[in-house]
Amino acid sequence: MNIPFAKVGQGDDSYSIGVVELSKHPDLEKIKQDLWCTELGCECRLLYSTYLSRPILKTWKNQNHSEDCMYYFERNEAKRKKSLF
Ligand SMILES: [Zn+2]
Repeated sequence: MNIPFAKVGQGDDSYSIGVVELSKHPDLEKIKQDLWCTELGCECRLLYSTYLSRPILKTWKNQNHSEDCMYYFERNEAKRKKSLF
């Protein structure tokens, strides 16, 4: 599942940004180091990347979403599938 929004920064001046908007951001190189899950209570880092020249957001490899996060299930499901093999 691709994540459509990211939160830039973690302080009071943090803001949400859509992935397409993000891809056109003049400070992209800088702010892509500081992207976080937008879900309340989740402090998972997000990774900006491109797939087939389309901008995407995904979860960092060694990061996990909070259990209450809507993206948590996806990561859990992937783990479960892996353990079947
Ligand atoms: Zn999350």
